[in-house]
Amino acid sequence: AGPGLKVISTMSVGFDHLALDEIKKRGIRVGYTPDVLTDATAELSVALLLSACRRLPEAAEQVKSGGWTTWKPLWMCGYGLSDSTVGIIGLGRIGQAVARRLKPFGVRKFLYTGSGPKPEIAAEFGAEFVSVTKLAEESDFVVVTCALTPGTQGMCNKDFFSRMKKTSVFVNTSRGAVVNQEDLYNALSQGQITAAGLDVTVPEPLPTDHPLLSLKNCVILPHIGSATYATRSTMAVLAANNLLAGLRGEPMPHELKL
Ligand code: NDP
Repeated sequence: AGPGLKVISTMSVGFDHLALDEIKKRGIRVGYTPDVLTDATAELSVALLLSACRRLPEAAEQVKSGGWTTWKPLWMCGYGLSDSTVGIIGLGRIGQAVARRLKPFGVRKFLYTGSGPKPEIAAEFGAEFVSVTKLAEESDFVVVTCALTPGTQGMCNKDFFSRMKKTSVFVNTSRGAVVNQEDLYNALSQGQITAAGLDVTVPEPLPTDHPLLSLKNCVILPHIGSATYATRSTMAVLAANNLLAGLRGEPMPHELKL
């Protein structure tokens, strides 16, 4: 839009795709869409976690390909949530909504990490604030729901995956760049962790010949966290109202504090 650009309205809660320094410098106002997509994204995170740990795409494929033959006790077994430890990286709006949804599955313990403890929020889940290292070591399920920042970029790397249990499952619905994908590929293909579910990748779309797509134990979705009809419609209206308010010089329904 050139030097005339006054207002940006993003139809997302994430704003890692915006050049914030330049935006600030030019005095441009930014509207975004927090809260309204929390439930849909948390729901998708749970769906992805269950798909990965109970091997749903792989099992469904077996039905189609004729791999489903006589009953075998350990065929298509996975890991369940009952009595498990779930580690949440980023107990923000979506992280909390994920914990709220996972609790009734019989999770024994929630761990979380972030910039500091949030005892009042964590009390709802009896969640314990731990270091990233401890979260990796003790979780049966790791769910990444943090924002992408310089501090979180690449934080799930070789060291992180090597600390995870061999039976653990990794889920990322935040942003692809929080994960070092080469390290994740190695962890999955060498059996360092049991499975992964990703709604976000680098790049997006992920090329169809990407090594991660060759793995049976990696479920990859095309960034559909907030993709329900109702949520996308609410997001669109909010984004439009943010933009109109910005153009009129009025307070936006949801303005990003820069
Ligand atoms: P919030 O701002 O509520 O939560 C972000 C969380 O990130 C905060 O709890 C923050 O923790 C945490 N965080 C920041 N730095 C770190 C760190 N170094 N280590 C661990 N945690 C950290 O945002 P939302 O919950 O609304 O959204 C989270 C993200 O989810 C968005 O930024 C977006 O990228 C992604 N998203 C993905 C969607 C999808 O379609 N897959 C849809 C919607 C969002 P603390 O408060 O302790 O700093």
